[in-house]
Amino acid sequence: MITPLLGLYLHIPFCRQRCDFCSFYLEIHREGRAETFVRSLIHEIGLSAQHHVTPDRLIQSVYLGGGTPTVLATTQLTAILSEIRSQLTLAADCEITVEAHPSTISEQDLAQLYQAGITRMSFGAESMEDGDLTRIGRPGAVHETVIAMNQARTAGFTNINLDLMYGLPSQSLDSWQRSLTHCIELQPAHLSCYALTVEQETKLASNIQRHRSPALDEGLQIEMDEAAQRILGDAGYERYEVSNYAKPGYACRHNLLYWTNGEYLGFGPSAQSYLGGTRFGNVADLTAYDATLAAHNLPTEDRTTLSKEEQLRDAVIFGLRLIRGIPSQHLHQHAANYGHEAITAQLLAQQLIEEDEGRSRLSAKGRLQADTIAGQLY
Ligand code: SF4
Repeated sequence: MITPLLGLYLHIPFCRQRCDFCSFYLEIHREGRAETFVRSLIHEIGLSAQHHVTPDRLIQSVYLGGGTPTVLATTQLTAILSEIRSQLTLAADCEITVEAHPSTISEQDLAQLYQAGITRMSFGAESMEDGDLTRIGRPGAVHETVIAMNQARTAGFTNINLDLMYGLPSQSLDSWQRSLTHCIELQPAHLSCYALTVEQETKLASNIQRHRSPALDEGLQIEMDEAAQRILGDAGYERYEVSNYAKPGYACRHNLLYWTNGEYLGFGPSAQSYLGGTRFGNVADLTAYDATLAAHNLPTEDRTTLSKEEQLRDAVIFGLRLIRGIPSQHLHQHAANYGHEAITAQLLAQQLIEEDEGRSRLSAKGRLQADTIAGQLY
């Protein structure tokens, strides 16, 4: 039997400040806390590898996300990567991504990351208009994204992603189109375009409630999504998932693992794992995380073993987000398992899900309601 490939996700829980829209688990970066965290993370990698991974298991992707991984010193990031290499077996073509805020990385850092074997940089640009960044409380400026892109290329990176958000407070359709055009000029291999959502207990939610910031305009977000598909499609980017576009051959292997219900192991506070049909997560508290590892225990909690029906449910819900979709028989088997035949028939009749040649996927209209449809099929 061929052992399936495994992905690794490492959550670096630090940022220099919290953006107004962000609800991720994170702490404001302090050097002392970061040093303790890196020691804990390196300890967790060794313990978890021994506990969860058989020696024949190849790692297909490593993703350092957060938070902002590049608030750590580059020597800390390369020490983490060295520990992964010493404890686990990376495939020869393993994709290794580091997320970076453009203002937290220098030319020298990028050169060192490239030499250490990082294969993919993902910059959180969010917008290419400075006014948009100010209105979402996002530190940094557009020219820093341009500089970081150029420096990454000089360092040797060819696989570079830019993250963008649309539907930002007071952002117009024109402004969004300008952001897209500016990004295309920088020629990233991959672009992620996320519709802004308002999470509870964020500064943005409070600003909207107090009428200091306009409420989201869903109609405008739909127009922006359509504009992204058109403008990026014309520039040679293929949309392969609801929020993701890539030049041929540059789809993100790590994220594809999530959408194809593949297995992954998470490290760091709040990181999630899916292994052997069981989902489990790490404690979302840095102090508890450090203390558990100092006592040589894994910081795992909330284990849920999925039945075969639940595994199929998740494969259907994630897989429908892919433009290539899923086998239609999986959709209908899931509908039969959960008594969802009527709602599935309705989603097909409303052309929110489309079927052809034995495969099912969200339609262009369905992609705009991806989360609602996922909720209906759960
Ligand atoms: S940089 Fe990213 S993770 Fe950090 S606060 Fe902003 S959105 Fe959240």
